[in-house]
Amino acid sequence: MRYDSDVVIVGGGVVGAALAVALKDSGLTIALADTRAPAPFDAGMEMDLRVFAISMASRRILEALGVWDDIRTARVSPYREMYVWDAGGQGAVHFDSAELGELELGYIVENSLLRHALWAPLRHVPRVTLIHPAAPEALSIDADGAELTLSGSRRLRARLVVAADGAESATRALAGIEVRSAAYGQRAVVAHVRTEQPHAHTAWQRFLPTGPVAFLPLADGRVSVVWSLDEAQAERVLALDEAGFCAALTEASEARLGKVLSSSARAAFPLQRLHAWEYVRAHLALVGDAAHALHPLAGQGVNLGLLDAAVLAEVILLAHTQGRDIGDFGVLRRYERWRKGDNLAMIAALDGFKRLFSNDAAPVRMLRSAGLSAVDRFTPLKHAFARRAMGLSGDLPVLARGN
Ligand SMILES: Cc1cc2nc3c(=O)[nH]c(=O)nc-3n(C[C@H](O)[C@H](O)[C@H](O)COP(=O)(O)OP(=O)(O)OC[C@H]3O[C@@H](n4cnc5c(N)ncnc54)[C@H](O)[C@@H]3O)c2cc1C
Repeated sequence: MRYDSDVVIVGGGVVGAALAVALKDSGLTIALADTRAPAPFDAGMEMDLRVFAISMASRRILEALGVWDDIRTARVSPYREMYVWDAGGQGAVHFDSAELGELELGYIVENSLLRHALWAPLRHVPRVTLIHPAAPEALSIDADGAELTLSGSRRLRARLVVAADGAESATRALAGIEVRSAAYGQRAVVAHVRTEQPHAHTAWQRFLPTGPVAFLPLADGRVSVVWSLDEAQAERVLALDEAGFCAALTEASEARLGKVLSSSARAAFPLQRLHAWEYVRAHLALVGDAAHALHPLAGQGVNLGLLDAAVLAEVILLAHTQGRDIGDFGVLRRYERWRKGDNLAMIAALDGFKRLFSNDAAPVRMLRSAGLSAVDRFTPLKHAFARRAMGLSGDLPVLARGN
């Protein structure tokens, strides 16, 4: 059987590109297809509105892939502390990296920088083909492999096709894989703002009955706002002029960093929860948002996706060194078993959080405040939460274990 590539990855976002980098020196041939290549990155340009809080585990994966130094020196903001507090009560939790014996809790990084850094090592590698602009138009799977037709009638036969094309994955749809999904009826309004007081390399998150508002520290001293709101409220906030928007944010954040003084342009992303019934079939695997999308309140989407990529790479590399077919269902099932439980647990936890904090009934408010304060006082539980969110506990793939 002739294959054009051993692995075809559709979607070169952070997750798909990370998988390609993890496989690029394995001896396997890789094709990475995307509707668009990342734009060149230059530290003098305006910051991308899409920023991610990435965990220690993600940092370790990026280190192991050899791209972290370039990212860190370009434009990254570490955060060392995190304050989470409840608008409807007295509860608050404070996380401090020093208490955990770590230098940092995580990092705020732009999506455009991550993509740029992950595509760079893929260029000029003989075994890697970058195909763009390209989108999948047809997919068929038989006993020996998968055949993917890309726009422009380009056909690729592969041992394994990986869908990494995000929450609206066309590849997943072509394969006929069903998802369980629910729209939250909310949008996340994002902007970069300047505040009266410095962010002190701290991530701030206040839970309002309407949804959480997060202030994340940026490398240029501003903060990145992620404000989850119901559709109608989001519309109203987006329609405000700059002064009105800043005043609304000052109020929503209880002026924790003083007044919000100025704002960049704003953007809004619809929020949804989505989980694919199947992560794998013979010769097909789903990773990242193509397999699961979740509420951004804990900033975990990219982090879970990078763990998917690291686990799938590990499973593929092991099968390849053992001379097994990397598209074999049994091989791919190992990836699914490893990741599905973790991803589902995170989706359920975030859903529960969202519901708990949206409830304005007085008894719920009291319990919530008491709960937050109890977590804050009970150090072992707080540390266990923090280590989980940082990706430092659980069954980690080799790429996320660090030295
Ligand atoms: C407001 C907001 C804030 C967030 N904050 C955080 C955070 O702080 N931390 C965190 O970990 N996560 C965060 N997330 C989640 C995060 O954005 C996603 O989990 C992450 O982007 C998923 O990465 P991905 O590579 O799987 O998919 P995507 O980033 O969606 O990338 C998909 C790629 O596929 C390409 N593509 C799409 N369709 C096609 C097609 N038909 N053909 C070819 N290519 C295609 C796209 O061009 C893109 O390059 C946030 C999400 C939102 C909405």
